[in-house]
Amino acid sequence: MEIAVAAYGKINLFLDVIGKLENGYHEVDMVMQRISLRDVIHLEKRDSGIEILTDHAYLPVDENNLAYQGARRVREALGLRGGVRIRIEKHIPVAAGLAGGSADAAAVIEGMNALYGLGLSREAMMALGGPLGADVPFCFLKGAARARGIGQDLTPVKGLGDVYLVLTKPNLSVSTREIYENLTEEDCRDHGSMTDMLQALEEENIYRISQSLFNTLERVTLRRYPGVLQEKKRMISYGARGVLMSGSGPTILGLFNREGPARAAAKNFKRFNQQTYLVRPF
Ligand code: ATP
Repeated sequence: MEIAVAAYGKINLFLDVIGKLENGYHEVDMVMQRISLRDVIHLEKRDSGIEILTDHAYLPVDENNLAYQGARRVREALGLRGGVRIRIEKHIPVAAGLAGGSADAAAVIEGMNALYGLGLSREAMMALGGPLGADVPFCFLKGAARARGIGQDLTPVKGLGDVYLVLTKPNLSVSTREIYENLTEEDCRDHGSMTDMLQALEEENIYRISQSLFNTLERVTLRRYPGVLQEKKRMISYGARGVLMSGSGPTILGLFNREGPARAAAKNFKRFNQQTYLVRPF
C-alpha cells in the first residue's frame, strides 16, 4: 500500500528577532502563514530500513534528508521495526525560506502515523518533530500562527484572507545558519509592530497588513546579496501591495488583492526567475 501526504510550505509575514538565547538559538516572534505550494510525499511500507527517492537533483537521499530524519524519529520513539520507502515529489524550492525541508519532515511523521496506524495525536507528532528543526511543529498546522520562543510556541491567529501571493526565488540559495551567523545587534534594534500585524489580519485589511510586513533577517540577506533588493523593487513595480522576504530568504513575496495583476506579475518574473509561483494562503 502506498499513501501520499501533502507537505505545504510557509511564508513569514512577520519575523522579529528578539535576542540570542544561551543555547545559541535565537528568540523570535513571528507570524507564519501556510501556503498552497506543496511537495507530495509518497510512503510505502518496507520490512526494515528507510529508503529515500526524489526527483530533485541536489537533495540528499541519506540521513541528511529531513524526510529521513522524520522517519527515524518515529521508528526510534515508538520502537517500530517496520521500515519505509519515501518518495519526495519536490515542488517547494530548496534553501529558499519556505520551510520545504521542515514540511517534508512533518509530512513523513504524519504519513508513518497513518501507514502504521500508530494513533499519534497531532500534539505528539509536533513534539516528535520539534528537535528536527524550529519550523517543523508549525508544519502540522493549517492557516497562520504566531510563533514565539525558538519558533515552537505556537498560537493560531487569523491568517491572510482572499489574497494572491507571488513568490519569486532569485537564482541563489541561502542557508538559514549563514544569515543568523551574520546578524548583528544593530540589525535587531528595530522590532516592527506585531500588534499592528495581528490587528491588520483580524480586520482583513490588506493595506494595513502590507504596511506591517516585517522581517529582521531581510537586512542581513540584502546586505550579503544586494541583488535581492532589485527583486523587491521589481515586485513593487509590478503592483504588489506589500513586499517582504520570507524567512532567511532569498524568496521574495508580493501581496496582491486581485488575481489578474498577480498573474501578470508572476508571468513577468518567470522571465528572470524560473522559480516563480502564484500561490494562495492555505
Ligand atoms: P526555512 O524557511 O525553514 O529556513 P528553507 O526553505 O530555507 O527553510 P529548506 O528548503 O527547508 O530551507 O532546506 C534547507 C537545507 O536542508 C538544504 O540545504 C537542503 O539540502 C536540506 N534538506 C534536507 N532535506 C530536505 C528536504 N526534504 N527538502 C528540502 N531541503 C532539505
